[in-house]
Amino acid sequence: MEDIQLYTMLLGIKYPWLVTKVQVDMALNRVDVWVQEAEGARFSCAVCRQEVPVHDHTEEQVWRHLDTCQLQTFVHARLPRTKCHKDGVKQILSPWAEPRSQFTRLFESRLINTLKECDVTGVTRLWETSWDETWGVMQRAVTRGLSRKKKRVPQYMGVDEKSIGKGQNYESIVCDLDRGTVEYVVDNREQKSLETYYRQFSQEELEQVEAIAMDMWDPYIAATKSYVPDADKKIVFDRYHAMTQVTKAVDNVRRSEHKVLSAREDFRLKGTRYLWLWNEANVPEWRREEFAGIKDAKLKTSRAWAIKEAFREFWSYSYRKCAEKYFRAWYFWATHSRLTAIIAAAKTLKVHLTNLLTYFKHRITNATSEGINSKIQMIKLMACGYRNREHYKAAIYFHCGGLDLYPRAETA
Ligand SMILES: [Zn+2]
Repeated sequence: MEDIQLYTMLLGIKYPWLVTKVQVDMALNRVDVWVQEAEGARFSCAVCRQEVPVHDHTEEQVWRHLDTCQLQTFVHARLPRTKCHKDGVKQILSPWAEPRSQFTRLFESRLINTLKECDVTGVTRLWETSWDETWGVMQRAVTRGLSRKKKRVPQYMGVDEKSIGKGQNYESIVCDLDRGTVEYVVDNREQKSLETYYRQFSQEELEQVEAIAMDMWDPYIAATKSYVPDADKKIVFDRYHAMTQVTKAVDNVRRSEHKVLSAREDFRLKGTRYLWLWNEANVPEWRREEFAGIKDAKLKTSRAWAIKEAFREFWSYSYRKCAEKYFRAWYFWATHSRLTAIIAAAKTLKVHLTNLLTYFKHRITNATSEGINSKIQMIKLMACGYRNREHYKAAIYFHCGGLDLYPRAETA
């Protein structure tokens, strides 16, 4: 009798449910607890909610519960099926678990907490659950979270692409920059990918968007222009992406110059790649001297590098007008550098200048959601455990969606 009372308390079992048997098996490391409804108990019909009598029972089902000390603990029950004269025979839901789950809500919540801390495989090792069961918990948590989430347009939005796997596979990710949450993940990075996100909202809702940070990527621009009112004033090209354009150009200049120099047995540029790509301030202490020796040399690469470093200044302006003036001077310098890659990068930036300058009004970048980027990086590292894109997307929602993931008993 004592274990029955103990488990009634531990499991939070309330009338009409009763614990009828507890079996402890130290050899198998498990506790089994049988639960059944009190005789004559009535339940609400799943359809009309009227209290109706029990008609029969399902086969016995088993749910894994939180462990009892070192013992795995399982709840057994045959769930009653009610009979309503209007709606016929209906199965009632157990008060301790979600429909179709083999775990009690408390255990499922524990798995969710553990999934937040490590990957699916780690969870299976800690809890001795199977991969599929554990994955199912994550997937259901996401579905639950998404269905509870209020539909709302972020005021400050970030649109970013993430490559996945080894091939040229991408996901487009829409973030709420204020809340630091991923709002939407969709396959590919085409115009229609982003449009599927916008299409969920009305024109009035999309008017609420203040600004959208994104790469200078035509499909995203086109999607945004065709859906978001006043997109011209709201698109803010990501400054890090803009910087990358120039940095890549520096790298191109270095590579071709190195080729030319090496042919003449001049190896000054060997092993210097990162010296030119880093911000000057980030050149590590132990390479400063080496860098000082070449950065002022009469090299095309050092000229390209100086132009890149000068473009960095652009972002430090407080006023749009001053920034624009600075850009024009920089542009003149860059386009007269006789460095093909630098000229091309400068021209790209010029084409997009209007929405580079919106930065000085809104001051947003995709790095605002820094937490998200590092979490997604972590998800990618764990991605070997994800068998496909759907898994990867679910993991992003799970870790970055800001969703209410936990199962709760429905309060009718
Ligand atoms: Zn009914």
